[in-house]
Amino acid sequence: MLGAALLGSAGMADQEVRDVRFGVDGARTRVVIETAEAVDFRAFTLDGLSDRLVVDLPDMDWSVSGLEAGEGVGHGLVDGFRFFNNSSASSRVVFELEHPAVIVGQFALDPAEPGGNHRLVIDVERSTEDTFQTASGFSHTSAGSLDSLIMERVEAVYVPPERERRVIVVDAGHGGHDPGTIGRSGTHESDVTLEAARELRRQLEATGRYEVLLTRDRDVYPSWEQRVGVMADSRADLFISLHADSSPSANTRGAAVYTLNDRAEDRARQRGRQNNARTELAEVNHILLELELREKRNQSSAFAEVLLEHLSGSGPLLSNPHRQANLFVLLDPRVPAVLVEMGFLSNRTDESNLTSASSRRRQMASIVSGIDDYFANRGDDEFADSDTIALPAR
Ligand SMILES: [Zn+2]
Repeated sequence: MLGAALLGSAGMADQEVRDVRFGVDGARTRVVIETAEAVDFRAFTLDGLSDRLVVDLPDMDWSVSGLEAGEGVGHGLVDGFRFFNNSSASSRVVFELEHPAVIVGQFALDPAEPGGNHRLVIDVERSTEDTFQTASGFSHTSAGSLDSLIMERVEAVYVPPERERRVIVVDAGHGGHDPGTIGRSGTHESDVTLEAARELRRQLEATGRYEVLLTRDRDVYPSWEQRVGVMADSRADLFISLHADSSPSANTRGAAVYTLNDRAEDRARQRGRQNNARTELAEVNHILLELELREKRNQSSAFAEVLLEHLSGSGPLLSNPHRQANLFVLLDPRVPAVLVEMGFLSNRTDESNLTSASSRRRQMASIVSGIDDYFANRGDDEFADSDTIALPAR
């Protein structure tokens, strides 16, 4: 199910965020999140399409007076922030940063007085220009000329590294504190996706043509950034996220495949623009981002179509089964990515198929043949034909 990740969830929060404050001390910005009770948290920064400080929390209510929408303006390095429930069991505060930053300290404080708020404290500091250059994929040492930069980048994007086997990242949706949707007879989506991911890996590896990386191989919840990180780090050839769906109508059943929609693509592009505006290579970055996004969308859609052909051989498809979504896991511009909803846990037949080893084998076999077909259609020579890439005049 992917609705929860998009829409948030009322959840069953008995904990609340009561305030968000900032302090500035020289180059350092202190972020303080005040909560009613002590909570576990995890903070990390993200560079790339935009610069953010992300703080993951358990499922919590937002109860900051004056900021009912869960959004506010920042101070120091923080431009602004927003709070949302990113799954039925977790909440997140995303701080948009005006500059790439590193976390230099983080700790929790008990209330200063009885009945007072608990505090999560995160100190961030502007990272050096060198760090940013590396993170953005460009370095001054390679900046011989604009042309060589463009070619270097285009090659990095369009020519997968020389490898004996294609690298496929298989993402089992949900996990850990986030069970996903729950079936009519109690099946957890997170269990179904993990079993399917393992089976898909087994079958793909058995062909000898693929190397498979799972974003998780047990009942844990990797963040979206971690899932995307696996594909970015491995420079994967393909990313497949496995999910099971849910519908209020018990009759709705069948598989569907999601690719990135235009709106999300615009957002990714917009972020790239904002980020790149800071560099002298802004225009180059911008052009290349456009190319990456266009190429990726074409490839993801091509893969989705091939996949659906094969999936239809192993079971029913939802009507209009190629859909578009605005999902973070599909947002990395470098790797063709699809999200497969394998069926509906809210439908009895689908649920029993999704929990049956033989049905799973059949469905994953159809995905394997879809992947085979995709690479066969694409051919090894396609990327060598760089004439088809029209670089805008400078
Ligand atoms: Zn799901």
